[in-house]
Amino acid sequence: SDIGSQKDRVVTEEEWLQKWEMGNIGFHKEQVHPLLQKYLDVLLNGRNGLRIFFPLCGKAVEMKWLADMGHSIVGVEVSEQALKDFFTEHNLPYCEEPVPEISGAKKFQSASGNISLYCCSIYDLSSSIVGKFDGVWDRGALVAVNPCDRQRYVNLMITLMEKKSSYLLVTVSYDPNKHKGPPFYVPDSEIKSLFG
Ligand code: SAH
Repeated sequence: SDIGSQKDRVVTEEEWLQKWEMGNIGFHKEQVHPLLQKYLDVLLNGRNGLRIFFPLCGKAVEMKWLADMGHSIVGVEVSEQALKDFFTEHNLPYCEEPVPEISGAKKFQSASGNISLYCCSIYDLSSSIVGKFDGVWDRGALVAVNPCDRQRYVNLMITLMEKKSSYLLVTVSYDPNKHKGPPFYVPDSEIKSLFG
């Protein structure tokens, strides 16, 4: 398949912030993703109280859903508006604090302590800052990353995973010559080579 038309496309952080400002967020869904419900057992694999990572989290409702099941959630998102909207829309009190290791970054944490959302670029994170995770929900994340940054993104994700963690990845399949993305088309063959 030819992904040539997308491989040089770049969406800047500024453009993402603008999408949030304009309410141009068709990617946000009010209902828990049906594939997360379907594959929840694969993610949990019989375990309780997991640390679950949401890369490029937006205001994904699945964060609340999994937190309500007793898991702790860490997300990262460049849009402060998205993170504030998340807590407000779920009526969750939260506090806001700087992240000493990352200049300009903020951490928003639910008062109950089980949801921590970092406002910064995912590329600013490392396991020494956020620790490692038992599970990852990657929907609208790998497919939103600029094609030129995919390997960097995946290498980072691998460093954030515990030995026995599970990673649920949602991709979209379409003709990349007909839409410019995001979401970008990431063929299965590329996913295999990215994750090794
Ligand atoms: N995963 C979410 C949002 C998908 S849209 C969901 O399922 O609804 C992709 C999100 O990534 C946008 O909210 C955008 O602001 C954010 N984003 C883009 N580049 C980023 C980066 N480098 N670091 C952190 N967040 C980023």
